[in-house]
Amino acid sequence: MKPPSMSETDRLLQCSYPWGFDRGSSADASSSAATFGTAFHEVMATLARNLTADPKAEVKKAAGKHSVDAEDLKTRVLDARIVLRQWMDGKNPWSQKLSVKAVEKSIAFHVVRRTVRKIKNPTEDTHEYLDIEKNEFPGTVDLVLENRNRTVVLDYKTGFDVSYPDRSGQLRSLALGFRSHREMVLAFLHAPSHSGPVIYAAEINDETLIKHKDAIAKAWDKIGDGSLRPGPACAYCPAAQQCPLNANNLVELKAKGDLTAARVGQIHETLGAYDKLAKMLRERICGYVRANGPVQRPDGKILDFVTRPFSNLSGASIKRALGEVEGAKMLELLEKKKCIEHGEREELRAIAEGIK
Ligand code: SF4
Repeated sequence: MKPPSMSETDRLLQCSYPWGFDRGSSADASSSAATFGTAFHEVMATLARNLTADPKAEVKKAAGKHSVDAEDLKTRVLDARIVLRQWMDGKNPWSQKLSVKAVEKSIAFHVVRRTVRKIKNPTEDTHEYLDIEKNEFPGTVDLVLENRNRTVVLDYKTGFDVSYPDRSGQLRSLALGFRSHREMVLAFLHAPSHSGPVIYAAEINDETLIKHKDAIAKAWDKIGDGSLRPGPACAYCPAAQQCPLNANNLVELKAKGDLTAARVGQIHETLGAYDKLAKMLRERICGYVRANGPVQRPDGKILDFVTRPFSNLSGASIKRALGEVEGAKMLELLEKKKCIEHGEREELRAIAEGIK
């Protein structure tokens, strides 16, 4: 299963549920907006690495490669480049020059050891980090700027809007890889289609970043435990279709009319997610009753463990096949030859009404 990455920090901090299942974080469909963003990032990275690169030629190359609107890409890249250069030249809140320290660098935060290391960039096609270890939370920073006093962790955004940079989980996570004695600044360079580019920047203190580490570790621990936390991230959750909180999903799937191949696939996938959740919840309530004793259900029945005998052979099926008399003889013979194993097992059952 693809683990969460730092670009998904805000979603992870709200609700770990989508990463507890196979579908999880890999369900991010590549939209045209996302493809445009990839092209934009690619050109900006090339221009930051190579100051003599021809912006128009780079735009043309990226627009062809990703099949995006070349004019739109050109406008946004050229404008963003001017704004960024001016900002680096001192047109920023501190009136200080900044220089490039890193371009498109990937890091991984180990959520158990609480350490950060540099890793290889993700694959271009599937965006997978191939060299991460278990419990590592990877991410790629677009640009790191620096001067004597400050380190700026900056991310490019081409969508409709951006959040406050110092509240962005993604930027806080990326900043973990670049903490130093300098003042830490988190920034977005926002280059939307509807208006000119703007850089939003805010300082963040080390204490907040340390708390952020704890928050990630806590959310990471919840992956796979079936817990759900609805909130703003539900609006762009890739597991929303399977989320049990959308309880009307099953009703909706039933009500949609005639079956089609597509609907059968969708229903099967959704039922799979519900089955996994049901199994997980059964295990959890078994653990609770084992530790705390019987509980009463809302219908008044008592939920407790009962011990039931079992054997590894179905006597009923032998009697059905051979008839009552012959079947009984066969069972007797099998018993004598010790072909049938017997045992006992505990099952959680609703066994009575009313707590004594
Ligand atoms: S839709 Fe469900 S799984 Fe997705 S974030 Fe919301 S609560 Fe979590």
